[in-house]
Amino acid sequence: MVEGPGTTRNGIKAEQLIGQKILNITTSKGVHNPWWTNRKLSQVVKIGKELFLIFALIDETIIKEQNQQTPNHDLALRLHFGMVGSLHINNHGTQTRQYKGRQPDMPTLEISFESKLLRTYDTTISIPINAIAPRTKYQRLHTFDCCSDDFSLDNVVEKLMSPSLSISRDTVISDVLLDQNLCPGFGNVIKVEGMHQARIHPKRPLSSLNEEELRLVVDKCQKYAMRWFREGRAPTKAVYNQTSCGTCHKVSVRICRVGGSNRTTFWCVNCQPMNPNALQQHAVATSQNIPNGIKRACPTHGPANVMLRRCKKSGMNEQRIFYCCKKSNCRFFSWADTNFPMCKCKKRAVLRVSKTDKTGGRWFFFCAKRGPTANGCGYFEWADQKYLDRYGQLLTPLL
Ligand SMILES: [Zn+2]
Ligand SMILES: [Zn+2]
Ligand SMILES: [Zn+2]
Repeated sequence: MVEGPGTTRNGIKAEQLIGQKILNITTSKGVHNPWWTNRKLSQVVKIGKELFLIFALIDETIIKEQNQQTPNHDLALRLHFGMVGSLHINNHGTQTRQYKGRQPDMPTLEISFESKLLRTYDTTISIPINAIAPRTKYQRLHTFDCCSDDFSLDNVVEKLMSPSLSISRDTVISDVLLDQNLCPGFGNVIKVEGMHQARIHPKRPLSSLNEEELRLVVDKCQKYAMRWFREGRAPTKAVYNQTSCGTCHKVSVRICRVGGSNRTTFWCVNCQPMNPNALQQHAVATSQNIPNGIKRACPTHGPANVMLRRCKKSGMNEQRIFYCCKKSNCRFFSWADTNFPMCKCKKRAVLRVSKTDKTGGRWFFFCAKRGPTANGCGYFEWADQKYLDRYGQLLTPLL
């Protein structure tokens, strides 16, 4: 997911084109009327995970007629980067993006300026709207935006404590932090890591957090977001997509879909108790130590570059896990499931992690031919720890 930091970085890239005239715009949906005629990029507005490109008329006389500082007829294009969206500034004549062995990618948006091309991929674009709406939204939210220079921790905490808060106080904190009207820019990774650093359990209702805890969790999320913004990639994750906790080093990370947003959430049962005063000792006692794993090594690049992946191609090997090498041109490959049990249809069982409320984080085996039409044997079994230990840290829940 592209969270606030990525959107803000994309906005900064786009700002270099402010003042330039638009020659043409194409989108993946096609364009019927050239609404951009005689317009230039006049402003880039960043609000949380949304980016607005604002286009003003070039013809001064029209603006003078309106007699306003920010004319009412400015138009804005809204961009949202979803899971993997991106924004690029290219020179004219540059080919579109192409991944090794695939067809060239078609941009979802291409704006041709006098000197450069602005392209986005895998991005949601809304039809142009009047620029008043995003400007108003910016005025309302900029002090809450985690990557804004105007971010104010006091303002966010005050709003969350306010009696006139727009959401129910029963809302779990995990959902509160994802609410783009309260904490614009926070996404699932920032939320998970911020709650972990603040030692807050994701299912605690907003009403159970005192001011000090709220301040701590918002502050940790925002600082994580700012590091992500400065470094250009997500900082080290202690619990997100981990099996063992990066803080206490126990195999104590739970995974579960949480709250009304139903987002996959991770937390450490040891570091983030539901009741801050209780159960810590019990959790420590039931956690295991991290297994080191049997070190697999790439014959060329050694053990440090080995990773575990899942076969996504449909067919007889779908969902099987294998070892491969991080180096881009390396062909190292080895199935990682050769010791798994066989199901009754004599197929290698598939290993996955549970995300349910009761058993989230437990690994299980099942028949690869699952589902109503797949004709499988229905085999299911919880995976014994001995099967998991060999992978050590390579085995991640989102694999
Ligand atoms: Zn922990
Ligand atoms: Zn290799
Ligand atoms: Zn089977």
